[in-house]
Amino acid sequence: MTFSASVANAYTADSRSTFAPPVGSDRAAPLHIVTPLLQTRVGDLQVGLKLDNLQPARSFKLRGIGLLCQHHAARGVRRFVCSSAGNAGYAVAWAGRALGVPVTVVIPQTTPEFMRVRIRALGAELRCEGAVWDEANSVALRLAEAADTAFIPPFDDPLLWQGHASLVEELARQCATPPDAILVAVGGGGLLLGVLEGLRRVGWQRTRVLAVEPEGSASLAPSLAQGRVVELSAPRSLATSLCVKRIAPALIDACRAADVVPLTVSDAEATTACVRLAEDHGQMIEPACGAALAPLYADHAALRGLRHVVAVVCGGQVVTLGDLARWQGEQNAA
Ligand SMILES: *Cc1c(COP(=O)(O)O)cnc(C)c1O
Repeated sequence: MTFSASVANAYTADSRSTFAPPVGSDRAAPLHIVTPLLQTRVGDLQVGLKLDNLQPARSFKLRGIGLLCQHHAARGVRRFVCSSAGNAGYAVAWAGRALGVPVTVVIPQTTPEFMRVRIRALGAELRCEGAVWDEANSVALRLAEAADTAFIPPFDDPLLWQGHASLVEELARQCATPPDAILVAVGGGGLLLGVLEGLRRVGWQRTRVLAVEPEGSASLAPSLAQGRVVELSAPRSLATSLCVKRIAPALIDACRAADVVPLTVSDAEATTACVRLAEDHGQMIEPACGAALAPLYADHAALRGLRHVVAVVCGGQVVTLGDLARWQGEQNAA
């Protein structure tokens, strides 16, 4: 699980914008790397930034998707199909290439050109179907009915959560003491379920989980309040990777069994956090990740009284330098 020679060798660019893993590399070694925990302060708060934006596929998603794809490859699957044009699709393309398994990514028409280029550069087949993600997803599910084909979901699969849990196991080795709280962004809740699994594994029962959602697409908070999955009709946020209509149903019980506090942040707070992370730490992340960091920079009430927190810098590559410059301008104008 260390930054092994074989993973280091993966850093041979075969296009201007994409680092690619070696084709058919060691099928059993984890596809993700151990990421650094950067210690910093925000005001009086001691903050550990868990830099999962540094994963070779540029987000935490490679942890779970890598494990799930390895599982399917080991049982002889000959194609992976997924329906995300964002970080999940990129991670599946990356894993498929590393495992020597062909990948089809079904995208909706709204997918930005630069993501199409990056996913294709990994050798994945792209199919553009439908105006919105739901339509692309129906096509992907149909394609996955073919023989020897596995559908790779973006967040709702227990093996994904097992893979994401490795993030907390790394933290247990990197932190001298358990943090008072962990900040985590929530879309469908795969990352959150993985963090909760990880906290159980390392025995950090007293670490509170601050589960952050954008105001315009908060589905965890109402679902926990009502004790059932609440479906959003039209989730809307600049944090597009968090715009999910329905959370993973397993979250309801998992959150009850742990100390999970749902929080919401505005899009402006999320983009401000993206600019701050770029300026202060030289890391470029998308608003989905900015949402998780936003409570730090917005001096959020949920952090009062805490001394030491870890923020999951979950990463995300659906962002451009132009976006960051625009958000910086908006911040200065405000
Ligand atoms: C997918 C994703 C999330 C949300 O993860 P879920 O498992 O859907 O909750 C957050 N940030 C980034 C960058 C992502 O790609």
